[in-house]
Amino acid sequence: MADKVLMAELTWPEFEARIKQGVTVFLPLGTTEQHGPHMALNVDVVLPTAVCERVAKNVGGIVAPTIPYGYKSMPRSGGGESFPGTTSLDANTFSLVVRDVIRALGRDGVRRLVVVNGHFENCWPGVEGVDLGLRELKRDGVADMQVMKLEYWDFVRRETLDRLFPDGFPGTELEHASLLETSLMLLLRPDLVDMSKIPSDGPAKFPPYDRHPIPKGFVPASGVLARAQGSSAEKGQWLMDDHVELITNAVRAEFGL
Ligand SMILES: [Zn+2]
Repeated sequence: MADKVLMAELTWPEFEARIKQGVTVFLPLGTTEQHGPHMALNVDVVLPTAVCERVAKNVGGIVAPTIPYGYKSMPRSGGGESFPGTTSLDANTFSLVVRDVIRALGRDGVRRLVVVNGHFENCWPGVEGVDLGLRELKRDGVADMQVMKLEYWDFVRRETLDRLFPDGFPGTELEHASLLETSLMLLLRPDLVDMSKIPSDGPAKFPPYDRHPIPKGFVPASGVLARAQGSSAEKGQWLMDDHVELITNAVRAEFGL
């Protein structure tokens, strides 16, 4: 039982027993969104889930089911909402989903939660969900739940980025469906990547502002915002090693594990 890392694979008595032992729960925030013509729609579900599974193993934690829909795709970080398959929630809806899950976990007795975001646009609506969840729990008399909330891609060493981008890192937003995500998918789910379909219409040249509605040609037609050429499973492993090690260290430090 102690080896099982996915909450959904536990029975309720097993889950209850883990909570009584003071288990740390991980909640990945994903979405269903276009990731170019060369990758499946579930990249932002696969990646944070995989990171959470590995960190949870390191600290004896468990991973709650990943939230599969996220806040709306923005043109300058995810290509926007016009791509078939990008399936999003309003910010308010997404926040309330996060709130409700946190409230339920808190009522069950979970006292240490790590919310791991895997979709850029979820960042602030995710914070809102955490805040609302804790507020409700407090009103219900649960005031001692501790939450860490993080974006997994922030946990990477400068040297690793320098190795991956000898000409300079383009930035996390532009990295959508590009080298980082493609390399991690090649490591984890090569069956969901088709390297022969990597486009060459990027990198996107965005102005420092948004337009509503989105003008024609504002976003590269492929949906890939930077470059995916040169992606490899080996590079994915460098990234994954950093993500897992650095997040494990942070969780151990914060929660004294
Ligand atoms: Zn993504």
